[in-house]
Amino acid sequence: MRDSILGLSFEELCEVLKGLNEKPYRAKQIFYELHLGKKLNEMTNIPQTLKAQLLQLYTDDDLTIIKEQKSKDGTRKFLYKLNDNNVVEGVLMKYKFGYTICVSTQVGCRMNCAFCASCMDGLVRNLSAGEIVSQVVKVNKYLGGDIKNRLVTNIVLMGSGEPLDNFDNVVKFIEIITNKDGLNYSDRNISLSTCGLKDKIYKLADLGRQINLCLSLHAPSDNIRKTLMPVSNSYSIDQLLDACKYYSLKTNRRILFEYILIDGINSSRECALQLAKKLSKINCLVNLINYNTVEGKPFKPCSSVVVDNFARILKDYKLQVTTRRSLGKDIDGACGQLRRKFIKTNGEEN
Ligand code: SF4
Repeated sequence: MRDSILGLSFEELCEVLKGLNEKPYRAKQIFYELHLGKKLNEMTNIPQTLKAQLLQLYTDDDLTIIKEQKSKDGTRKFLYKLNDNNVVEGVLMKYKFGYTICVSTQVGCRMNCAFCASCMDGLVRNLSAGEIVSQVVKVNKYLGGDIKNRLVTNIVLMGSGEPLDNFDNVVKFIEIITNKDGLNYSDRNISLSTCGLKDKIYKLADLGRQINLCLSLHAPSDNIRKTLMPVSNSYSIDQLLDACKYYSLKTNRRILFEYILIDGINSSRECALQLAKKLSKINCLVNLINYNTVEGKPFKPCSSVVVDNFARILKDYKLQVTTRRSLGKDIDGACGQLRRKFIKTNGEEN
């Protein structure tokens, strides 16, 4: 299978074109047009011979939107087909400031979090940098956006897969998507969500970028976390919080802690108090998310009273707290659900 041309950094594209005896300005033209969402054969300013040479080396067609679901609340969910017939999904959330796209970084996931639909078939493979870039490019174009008027304003690496488990491709994706000759996103408009691969958090911090880091915490103690997230057998909460403090110090960014509230598991008053004490000295925001039911999983969401009480206790400890709306409840909103349904029905569900 040919690699995706969207997975080339600007510098790599310059090198490829140099090898084909092309002038440097061609790299700017091609990079710009690719990030507008054009295929090589749709570029009217590039010679046919050059397009043919590039298409022998690379594919410009690595991912196709094959399904879209729209929620009553404006959330959209996309199913993308890859060239090897694997499918991954993405979510698009509408906010006052624009659209936020949630991109996938792996087909499946091997982290095996107990509440998640993405990992039910394990890890199939990593996505290439180009396949991750392509999700943003395709959806921005689909919405009618271009480079000067980007309609996808924010990117969260929070779809299926653990981004830090695909570190090199994710870092390359960030490098490409922030390039000034392409879509030119700012680091500050990109968030990366991890279940807590401690060593990779340090590695990310040392890159000197300003990506927002979100840690999926979901428990106030190692005992509870171990029942939900097997990664806790490798790293304790205290070790992860140290890594987060380091990240915040190096990047000057506030850490976002994600906490899914699951009825009877991690939502008690004691859990809230324990969490508040652990986080009280960290520059952070806590995002509480009520659990989104996943078929085949034994967990239940909490009542709104439980969610409000949990938030109030954290606020009493002067923590900044948001309670995320459960977006897209009517469209298999939880991560991995749409893909699972597609696989189970061989793509024949409506
Ligand atoms: S929650 Fe994230 S890290 Fe955990 S299994 Fe699902 S996709 Fe993987």
